[in-house]
Amino acid sequence: MRTRLVVGNWKMNGGLASNAALLDRLAAGANSLARGTTLAVCVPFPYLAQARERLQGTPIAWGAQDASERAAGAFTGDVSCGMIAEFGCRYVIVGHSERRQVHGETDALVAAKARAVLDAGMTPIVCVGETLAEREAKLTDTVVGRQVDEAIEALGNEVSRVVVAYEPVWAIGTGRTATPEQAQAVHELLRSRLVGAGAAQVALLYGGSVKAANAAALFAMADVDGGLVGGASLDANEFLAIGGA
Ligand code: PEP
Repeated sequence: MRTRLVVGNWKMNGGLASNAALLDRLAAGANSLARGTTLAVCVPFPYLAQARERLQGTPIAWGAQDASERAAGAFTGDVSCGMIAEFGCRYVIVGHSERRQVHGETDALVAAKARAVLDAGMTPIVCVGETLAEREAKLTDTVVGRQVDEAIEALGNEVSRVVVAYEPVWAIGTGRTATPEQAQAVHELLRSRLVGAGAAQVALLYGGSVKAANAAALFAMADVDGGLVGGASLDANEFLAIGGA
């Protein structure tokens, strides 16, 4: 049976004092999560130790927002999966649209990062999603299908160990959420590709302006197994309410 997963993506936000308050409030409120829901936060690299310190022993998991596909060496500024794993991380986001758009990450690089995350014993959250122009050109299925197929091809049988997040680029940080039906239509496509690869149980998260007010309707869709939450994950009450939806 697939279970519910709600992951917060802090992006490049936070500070030691505000993080401590947020993490402690999440830990204290973890008993308000809906039955069977796992809550996690993906924090900037410098705060992984703090996330571990504050969340260890609670039901809330933590992780990173990116990782190098390489193991070690002369790659200034990069952070390896082995380093991230040392902080007790369960998840690493790979291929977020901000990485694809701002840093030019390709499907092949995203797949290589997912492989490195798996090899380090963690779960990659592989992000896919179309831009507004692509949706308007009716290319959503083509783009999202290509993105997930690249991961399936690169990971083989191990694709069953990933989480996939559908994040339409036009809905991220814009306040414009996909309707539950729009999300379900793309999740259905993703599910069928994953079923074809023998990975029917992969958790499919929706991301893009998820908040407490729209989470329940999105999570009620047959192939939506939870959410990847940006802005709303910075507010403990709002994030816990999403986890309670
Ligand atoms: C995200 O950063 O993955 C995201 C979905 O952001 P937001 O919830 O703010 O749209």
